[in-house]
Amino acid sequence: MKPRIYLSSPHLGGNEINYINEAIETNWVAPLGPNVDNFEKDIAKYLNISEVAVLSSGTAAIHLALILLGVQKDDEVLVSTFTFSASVNPIIYQHATPVLVDSEAETWNMSPEILEKAIQSRIEKGRKPKAIIVVHLYGMPAKIEEIVQIAEKYKIPVIEDAAEALGSSFKGKKAGTFGDFGVLSFNGNKIITTSGGGALVSNNVEGISNARFLATQARDNAPHYQHSQIGYNYRMSNIVAGIGRGQMEVLDKRIEQRRQNFKFYKEIFKNKEGIIFLEEPNEFFFSNYWLTTILIDEKKSGFTNSDLRLAFEKENIECRPLWKPMHLQPIFEKYPSYLNGVSEDLFSKGLCLPSGSNLTEEEKFRIEKVVKLF
Ligand SMILES: *Cc1c(COP(=O)(O)O)cnc(C)c1O
Repeated sequence: MKPRIYLSSPHLGGNEINYINEAIETNWVAPLGPNVDNFEKDIAKYLNISEVAVLSSGTAAIHLALILLGVQKDDEVLVSTFTFSASVNPIIYQHATPVLVDSEAETWNMSPEILEKAIQSRIEKGRKPKAIIVVHLYGMPAKIEEIVQIAEKYKIPVIEDAAEALGSSFKGKKAGTFGDFGVLSFNGNKIITTSGGGALVSNNVEGISNARFLATQARDNAPHYQHSQIGYNYRMSNIVAGIGRGQMEVLDKRIEQRRQNFKFYKEIFKNKEGIIFLEEPNEFFFSNYWLTTILIDEKKSGFTNSDLRLAFEKENIECRPLWKPMHLQPIFEKYPSYLNGVSEDLFSKGLCLPSGSNLTEEEKFRIEKVVKLF
């Protein structure tokens, strides 16, 4: 059997080990230290944002953002239905209620139109939402300007889940910097990785300082251990942050490599009917193309997304269906949702293609061969 080609695997730059060694040699083996501080500075500079707190995961970052925005029991939070469950779970951690919002067909992200309808409908019911979580899926920026405008009109704060969109931008402004808080993830499958980790970013100095406080068990300022709030153990370790510093050095290269993957797939599917790519709607959108994703129109192509996935699987090449919308998930189907059929259509037709920045020419050749023979 030929070696497996993964959807998206870690791709180290080389310098990570030096930062880790330095941490060990200087005994900074703790959830604080110079790598943590410098990783935060590197991210802040890259995003052009003032404050960054690196954390144990992207999920932790979403959870803290909700707490900082005062989301509590029985509050409602609007969130994209077309996403990974980690966008929604922290709403439940707060005993609040997710209200699921469908996608538009251009970026596959939250539909501004449905969002406004949902806000009006919840307000009519006397349940004005406490926050909006908008996701930039597969690296494609959502229609964030319109979404932020609507949020401002109704005075509802915005959390941007940019876990998949580090380095993506809209009109030159980086994803994660439009809302009140932005969320990044450095999980093993993301565009850069620290093995596991995340970040909360904002221009709100007090908010991020509060996030650090909550993430380190909410210790009040006293010589003994004193607590007046519930805390969390959500900080990133100085070892892990060392990996992050090394990864930041190659981030732009990784984005370029993933964008090349997108071009490669455009080329090899060029003569196939019924293949629709998720692509930048116009020159204002810049996607990191974390994953290259397609829709397959069976009527034109003569095959389904699962036919193609199984053909790849036979050659030990990993492909995946798109995210299954949250309103179709057994655990979330009971919550209110505002739907237009787009996310269900995406789920029924879509496929994620192998998109690692470390795909070799030989691997690309194997992928191309499957498409050619299919
Ligand atoms: C990966 C991911 C998360 C969660 O990040 P973790 O670091 O794995 O906790 C949240 N939202 C989306 C859209 C993701 O893809």
